[in-house]
Amino acid sequence: MTTTQAVKEMRLKVQRTFTAFLPVAEERNGACLRCGKCCQFVFRCPFYDGTGCTIYSLRPPQCRKYPRTKEESIVPGCGFTFGE
Ligand code: SF4
Repeated sequence: MTTTQAVKEMRLKVQRTFTAFLPVAEERNGACLRCGKCCQFVFRCPFYDGTGCTIYSLRPPQCRKYPRTKEESIVPGCGFTFGE
């Protein structure tokens, strides 16, 4: 992972924690494919076991709502798209 990518992921990890109470953008389409990539930003979430989220039905808002906006959507191939 490049330093630029690590900084981007860390910024996003912190940002989504503080913006999780905000609504999801109306133009968001699609669904989570449960690929787990956003569960591994900078470091692997302790609830991610390598195949999926072990607390999926209880996951916190910052996970439930990710990606909330097009700006937050940094994972290629994520099941969510914006306005497309
Ligand atoms: S990157 Fe997208 S499709 Fe993959 S687990 Fe996260 S929200 Fe779901």
